[in-house]
Amino acid sequence: MRFFPFVFALLPTLALSALAQAKQRPPNVVIIFTDDQGYADVGVFGAKGYTTPNLDRMAREGRRFTDFHVAQAVCSASRAALLTGCYSNRIGMHGALGPGSKTGIAGGELTIAEMLKAQGYATAIFGKWHLGDRPQFLPTKHGFDEYFGIPYSGDMWPFHPAAKPGAYPPLPLFEGDQPIKVGLTPEDQEQLTTQYAEHAVSFIARNKERPFFLYVTPNQPHVPLFVSAKFKGKSGAGLYGDAIMEIDWAVGEILGALKKNGVDENTLVIFSTDNGPWLSYGNHAGSAGPLREGKGTAFDGGQRVPFIARWPGKIPADSVCPEPAMTIDLLPTLAKLTGGKLPEHKIDGLDIWPLLAGDSSAKNPHEAYYFYYGVNELQAVRSGDWKLFFPHKARSMQGQEPGKDGIPGKYKALPVGLELYNLSDDLGETRNVAAENPEVVQRLQVLAEKARENLGDSLTKRVGTGTREPGRWVPPAGQ
Ligand code: MG
Repeated sequence: MRFFPFVFALLPTLALSALAQAKQRPPNVVIIFTDDQGYADVGVFGAKGYTTPNLDRMAREGRRFTDFHVAQAVCSASRAALLTGCYSNRIGMHGALGPGSKTGIAGGELTIAEMLKAQGYATAIFGKWHLGDRPQFLPTKHGFDEYFGIPYSGDMWPFHPAAKPGAYPPLPLFEGDQPIKVGLTPEDQEQLTTQYAEHAVSFIARNKERPFFLYVTPNQPHVPLFVSAKFKGKSGAGLYGDAIMEIDWAVGEILGALKKNGVDENTLVIFSTDNGPWLSYGNHAGSAGPLREGKGTAFDGGQRVPFIARWPGKIPADSVCPEPAMTIDLLPTLAKLTGGKLPEHKIDGLDIWPLLAGDSSAKNPHEAYYFYYGVNELQAVRSGDWKLFFPHKARSMQGQEPGKDGIPGKYKALPVGLELYNLSDDLGETRNVAAENPEVVQRLQVLAEKARENLGDSLTKRVGTGTREPGRWVPPAGQ
């Protein structure tokens, strides 16, 4: 008799604690990060000739950022910044790493995956990695429990029409830390987007009872373009449109799996891409819409990317954020949302949750963003609506013979001087207003000088005091 009152007394406590636990359960995080998709290559961002119904629905159910940037407009550097919250050049990462690269992401950096794994998250990457393919650089050494995908870009393979004979070894496909096939064929590449989606759906189903971090990185629409049979000719807008539509389908599969497994309400899903369109590929490149130039430049066509965030009940549906933001801000934002611990070393990103949550009074917390490219060239600085370029050599396809069907055209060199643009009334960076605004030029020069002191700048031959070394591959004894 004395037992029952005890149980009944305990029941409300148990129920309350379950409720508290459910409330306290941190959100799942899904980041879908495609490759070389232009700013205007999503329906709601202005895509023409094909449709992206799932991404458009995601935008209707979430929040679209119209001024979101990557840290550098090239694959490896961009991905390094996203995962570590640091400017890529702070951590010694630049360019696009080739097969067998002797550098890669350093063991001492903290990735989003490592931060969330320490919080008890299941973690996975399905897609292209591109932060080093030596064993010490692979995703499984940097916080990911599971990996299925290619270690670098799909064009770094012997079959790429633009590759010199013998330039690239056979392309491997990894599962975990082992290649499960070496020497992918065109037919294999056709299946990759679908296979990444299938792995993502399975991962969600297997981990629905615990928090998870899922990083899906299709290597499309980076050249060479491939789609599975179900998307060949589907868009009516050529192979590029087909590739985007298959990515859109994959997004639909992932969102569907979240619903089916009952975790939709507790999952933050982010969609973006690692840099703007690779314009030299002509009809196999995307579009930056009204923005200037594309991949491999510090103009907005290279740096500004489509960005959609969705979290039912937490992020306002059908909303638009016009404030600037950058990939480096995601790690500290996720730290705040999940209780994750920031590293002791310096990072560059800042929490932008108020912008994601739709706080209409929220402003971007940075005084400036810095656009580096190449081996540590500070090419531009952005503060508020102003963007100041420093003298450097860019590249352009303006007036050049366009590439076609997977064969690239040739860029011409584009000399850039000290040029100031006001993005609020000149989105396409067409009118240099430096002469009329000397005080703005001066203010942005001072900001740039701060970056040079800390991060260095090879254009002005400065060495920064705050940079760290990349990971370096040490050959095993005897090699
Ligand atoms: Mg890319």
